[in-house]
Amino acid sequence: MKLSQALSRIAPSRTAAMMDRAFELKAAGKDIVSLSVGEPDFATPAHVIAATKAALDAGETKYTAVSGTQRLREAAALHFARDLGVVVPASQTMVSAGGKQAIFHALLATIDPGDEVLIPAPWWVSYPEIVRFAGGTVVPLETTPAGGYRISAAQLEAAITPKTSWLLLNSPGNPTGSVYSAEELRALGGVLAQHPQIMVMSDDIYAPLRYLPGRHATIAAVCPELAPRVLTVSGLSKSHAMTGFRIGLAAGPEWLIKAMGKLQSHSSGNPSSISQAAAVAALEGPQDFLVEWCAIMRRRRDRVVAGINAIPGLSTPSPDGAFYCLVDASTHIARFGDDEALCLHLLDHGVAVVAASAFGGHDGFRISFAASEAQLDEAVHRIAGALS
Ligand code: GLU
Repeated sequence: MKLSQALSRIAPSRTAAMMDRAFELKAAGKDIVSLSVGEPDFATPAHVIAATKAALDAGETKYTAVSGTQRLREAAALHFARDLGVVVPASQTMVSAGGKQAIFHALLATIDPGDEVLIPAPWWVSYPEIVRFAGGTVVPLETTPAGGYRISAAQLEAAITPKTSWLLLNSPGNPTGSVYSAEELRALGGVLAQHPQIMVMSDDIYAPLRYLPGRHATIAAVCPELAPRVLTVSGLSKSHAMTGFRIGLAAGPEWLIKAMGKLQSHSSGNPSSISQAAAVAALEGPQDFLVEWCAIMRRRRDRVVAGINAIPGLSTPSPDGAFYCLVDASTHIARFGDDEALCLHLLDHGVAVVAASAFGGHDGFRISFAASEAQLDEAVHRIAGALS
């Protein structure tokens, strides 16, 4: 018996592992404040739940087209244009079982052994693993808190080789909350214009959750000349509190969307028919609650950032988007060995967070602040106690 070489190149998702561990401890009766997995604590909007029930009652329980129902792909096209400024026909959209599956299929459909993929670090845990699974080589582009955890055009230029096949962008970013401005994206676009073999994936799933003035900027919209080689990824898990529905959306060139559909036809087939009906309601229904949710997240951000920065030896910048902060705990690491051991120590004290090293970071941990202010206060109190 053996595992494939592709599988042995990757590690299990450490966000999922910590979430499972927190579930187990809670089931065993332990009092855990779980700030590990990135999941909004809001209830899924009532009109989405009503549409889900209506779909069940209407018997929408069968196969659908592999890449999503026509109705949902049209709603997805509406979403990309309205919310991200990316104008595509429905045929250039794709529906998958979560944004993760869209990314998985896009990278598997295009990466050959030896292809280099540029990923700003710290990164979301699954990007490098998917690249390695596909046989590609991960090229980290290191970012710093002082630089707002964003890459510069010069840094991008210096990292490009003839083997570079993709640049992965994520704004607002997980785990740092970094947000690129239109001007910064234009500068990156200027470099990419000189290298026509490079595809760009822009993961914008956190776009509604940004704490800066002005409109969200994404590269396919601000650099339309690059749009034929940009895959923009979105979804409903974070914005509409629909993590369990597993609906991810992508918009990109038709050849890539078709390639992703080919792979999906042999992996999961269509995403859940019920979830797709719910997604139509989410995309076509009212969006005004997003403003309120964003304001709530912003208050939580301010509270948890102030609380963490008041603990001796911990520091975190204030993120501009998403619902994570990446905490520097380097002065405490020597006592524990590494950041994974530090996180296990915090878990013993009733707080689940994920080690920074899971995200290509160092000596710290990620907090998901998509939890109530009372839970965040309790978590900060427990972290302070655990490190005192
Ligand atoms: N994207 C979320 C996170 O980073 C969900 C878990 C996952 O898929 O990694 O926590």
